[in-house]
Amino acid sequence: MSNENQTVTTNFIRNIVIKDLEAGKHANIITRFPPEPNGHLHIGHAKSICLNFGIADEFGGRTNLRFDDTNPLKENEDFMLAIMDDVRWLGFEWEELRHASDYFQQLYDFAVHLIQTGKAYVESLSSEEIRAYRGTLTEPGRESPYRDRPVEENLALFERMKAGEFEDGLHVLRAKIDMASSNINMRDPVVYRIRNASHHRTGDSWHIYPMYDWAHGISDAIEGVTHSLCTLEFEDHRPLYDWFLDNIPAPCHPQQIEFARGNLDYTVMSKRKLRQLVEEGHVSGWDDPRLPTLAGLRRRGFTPEAIRAFWAEMGISKSHSIISMGVLENAVRNDLNAIAPRTMAVLDPLKVVLTNFPEEETEWLQASVHPQNEEMGKRKVPVTREIWIERSDFMEQPPRKFFRLKPGGEVRLRNAFIVMCTDVIKNDAGEVIELHCEFDPESRSGLPGAARKVKGTIHWVSAKHGVQAEVRLYDRLFTVPDPLGDKSRNFLEFLNPHSLDLIDNAVVEAPVAEGSGGDLYQFERTGYFCHDSVDSQPGRPVLNQIVTLRDSWARIEKELAQKQV
Ligand code: ATP
Ligand code: MG
Repeated sequence: MSNENQTVTTNFIRNIVIKDLEAGKHANIITRFPPEPNGHLHIGHAKSICLNFGIADEFGGRTNLRFDDTNPLKENEDFMLAIMDDVRWLGFEWEELRHASDYFQQLYDFAVHLIQTGKAYVESLSSEEIRAYRGTLTEPGRESPYRDRPVEENLALFERMKAGEFEDGLHVLRAKIDMASSNINMRDPVVYRIRNASHHRTGDSWHIYPMYDWAHGISDAIEGVTHSLCTLEFEDHRPLYDWFLDNIPAPCHPQQIEFARGNLDYTVMSKRKLRQLVEEGHVSGWDDPRLPTLAGLRRRGFTPEAIRAFWAEMGISKSHSIISMGVLENAVRNDLNAIAPRTMAVLDPLKVVLTNFPEEETEWLQASVHPQNEEMGKRKVPVTREIWIERSDFMEQPPRKFFRLKPGGEVRLRNAFIVMCTDVIKNDAGEVIELHCEFDPESRSGLPGAARKVKGTIHWVSAKHGVQAEVRLYDRLFTVPDPLGDKSRNFLEFLNPHSLDLIDNAVVEAPVAEGSGGDLYQFERTGYFCHDSVDSQPGRPVLNQIVTLRDSWARIEKELAQKQV
């Protein structure tokens, strides 16, 4: 028993695959990722993608991307293209692109087989009656009066359903299994329903469409899938998955294995809810950087490497959990810390005049593109008499532990030299509008004073060379960890009104302004940012905050605030 538990925590699915290969059960591992094209993929789907493709890759197998396109009313081509794009972006390439609709004829033929062997019948009760006959968890169901229709009559009716002779809902095809089963899924489940609707791939050829359970297992079998990996809500469907395959001449019988969904706090991951957020305009689109969609995370600047590392770290198990968004953000930080070039940007600019720096002059300083990776080379940082610093890096009456700029105090300008604040200029309202500082020429890199220590280092940008930019800061989309948790409330009530903070007068270094969509940076001391792939224009940069750095001052400030309470 303890052994079994351990297997679960170390990825029980991988272990099953290893055992099957060792036992010679399969020569090749084949998996599939089967999205329904009724929305965009989200970070939860990425867990399934990483698992399916990861297992096949590891053991030299193959993975199909299969669209579960059995509901013509909700699905469309645009969603398919977006899903393909997302899977590729995550770093995976499918062996074959398939559609459940490719198999409509085979699925129909197998249904005819089921009727011929007396294991399916055409039901003519209404959907309400079917529901009433089905029973409950504690009561068995009742058999339909149509259950014993003769085979010939079933065949004829099913054929007419297919030909479009009946209105939606008039009949359904049901498997004849067991109305008294303790598993409600086994109480004569519906296999086909009438839908007189055009399908985006098969047009008007079909007037009946297969139910998920029928289409899914058979599609798996047609593709020779060895391990059909799905989420836990399908556990109770497994007996049905197996029953269907056992009762038709299926080409093979894949093994369905369930694992727990990936969930994150402060967001929603149901496609239906995401669709509502998009369609009602609560967000700007499926790729809004606040959404947990892969399109949104990508636009926000999350990397596929970080998402893959995150799911690898979280592992696969059968136990339900909600992961803190901070864990995902940490995975992103770890990846970006290694790869993002460093640069300086000021989000809330305060002008500083270096009174002893020559007017008109630009001095080009050298800085590392990445302090831990010299291979990324050097960059040139211009300093001029007027520079911008962060408004929050100056305090006129600072508390004791404030190691940034204050009147008469010294601070190092990152990548440059030490400055001392000599004058504070205010407007009529008493607001600080400019600082005057003197710089210490001896404290430049390479000179004797370079090693002189002062307590604080702040970032800055030359006023002459810096470029104005729009910066978008993001916060959680919801104000509560589980917006769907309270069924008596509408989840929209928990939307965070401050999830997007627009700053239109930030200043970035000139090379950043010339970047383009998707380019990533660490703004030193501030966080990780990327060019917005939709709105950023040359000369008019728009930068998304991906994640913050851990901010030591914010921590101190919080501690102080707590002490004061
Ligand atoms: P949603 O409830 O978000 O609409 P879904 O299950 O209806 O999701 P599908 O398109 O049917 O979406 O999902 C394709 C595959 O992705 C399925 O195998 C499903 O089990 C898996 N999947 C969906 N959500 C998650 C998740 N949060 N974690 C892991 N796998 C998931
Ligand atoms: Mg679904």
